[in-house]
Order: sequence, then structure tokens, then C-alpha cells
Amino acid sequence: MKRIAVVMAMSAEASPVLTALSAEAATGVAPLVVRWFTATRHRSEILIALNGRDRRFGVDSIGTEPAALSTYVAIDRFRPDVVISAGTAGGWERAGGAIGDVYVSDGCVVHHDRRIALEGFREYGIGAYPVLPARQMAATLGLKTGIVTTSNSLDENDDDRLMISASGAAVKDMEAAAVAYVCEQMSVPFMALKAITDLVDHPTATADQFNANLSMAAKRLSEKLLEVLDWLIPRERGDMS
Ligand code: SAH
Repeated sequence: MKRIAVVMAMSAEASPVLTALSAEAATGVAPLVVRWFTATRHRSEILIALNGRDRRFGVDSIGTEPAALSTYVAIDRFRPDVVISAGTAGGWERAGGAIGDVYVSDGCVVHHDRRIALEGFREYGIGAYPVLPARQMAATLGLKTGIVTTSNSLDENDDDRLMISASGAAVKDMEAAAVAYVCEQMSVPFMALKAITDLVDHPTATADQFNANLSMAAKRLSEKLLEVLDWLIPRERGDMS
């Protein structure tokens, strides 16, 4: 895989990996939507596409709409062999998750806040987008594996909880399904790599856990992302299992 795009939502999540890759800022690429950084690793081209900062609210553009726009621009202009949705996420103690764990997507990526009780649209709402098989990579690199589930809320309500238990997801974020959706539509292999900042079933508020663990999780993510790049670079899509 000679061209790898990494789509990320928050600059604090991306900062250690940008440093580790000695990535350089690219100019002139859809500046209202994304901030692009590029690097070369073992003769492969790496794109880090940050989903930008909201023009009005001034915060990082987290959530599905910026992630989908960013992924579209990345695929259209960079033509990657694979797209990685990298970032932080919530996990569950009951699913064996711990703060600082790094998960790679397994099985599929789903939405847990799109309930559409209409023939055919129920499945469309859930998505169940395909992911690149990565169990061998996970076993070698010490990554956990699980279904990633996405919504536009940091918390979860009772309806979300029902959909999450139906999918059996182990990882909860706000972008992966949007990135995976665009990848499926554009026939580009997809993988999510997520470092756990908070445990959804822990009594401490998610936002407090997130803030306490963000910088540690971003470092863990960066370490594992570099190992994942080094795994992917010499391989073809069909070498993954
Ligand atoms: N208050 C924070 C906002 C972070 S939102 C701040 O401004 O610094 C959380 C981000 O981390 C999203 O991009 C999401 O993908 C991920 N995330 C981490 N924990 C999550 C959880 N429990 N549920 C959903 N997304 C989570």
C-alpha cells in the first residue's frame, strides 16, 4: 500500500503522530474543510487529513459531517490505497476495554443513532460498513479488535444503548461510520484505529474521563498508528486476514 490516508478529527489527537512522522502542512487543499499534512515513510506517501476547525464555533470539527467531507476530499484528491479513521473513542469495561487500549476495527462499522423503521432503510441507517480484515495484524501488534459504533453524541441515551447491545460494538466514537460510508461508496478499503479515552460503563462522567486521558491516549494512538503503517506499507490489500 503506497498511499495511505489517515482521517482525524481533533488536532490534540493528531499532534503526536504529526511529530512522529515529521509531517508537513500542505496548503491550498479545501482550507475551510480540512487541514492536510503529508509525510513519506519507507517510500510510501502518508496523508494526515485533519477535519479542520469550525468557522463559527472555533472548535475542532468533530462528528460525522466534517468526517464525511474530509474523507471525500482525501479520496478524490489523494487517491489512497486505504483510509484509516484514527482517533480516540469510548470503550466498555464489560467488553474487556481499558483506558489506553488501542482497537482496530473488526467485522463492520455501524451507526447507533439512525433508527429508520421503514422497509430497507433500517439496514441503511445502521450501515454495517465493511472493514479491512486485520486480525493477524492485531495479534502481531497487540491491538484489540471490535465493532466500532458511531453517533454524533458523546453520551448515549436508552435507544442508543439498545442499538449498541444489538450490534455488540466494543468501541464508540463520532466519526468512523461516516469515514467508512464514504470509503464503501468510493470502493476504498477502510480501517478504524481508536485509542480508548473513557469507559462508557464507568461511574465517572465521560467528558471528565476524556479530558483526563486525551493526551495519554493520543500518544498510544501515535505509537500504534506508526506500527500499523509499517504493517500496511509492504502489503497488498489481499494480504490482509
Ligand atoms: N470536550 C471535548 C470534545 C471531544 S468529543 C473537547 O473539546 O476537547 C470526543 C471525540 O473523541 C470525538 O471525536 C469522538 O470520536 C471521540 N470520543 C472519545 N470518547 C468518546 C465516547 N465515549 N463517545 C463518542 N465519541 C468519543
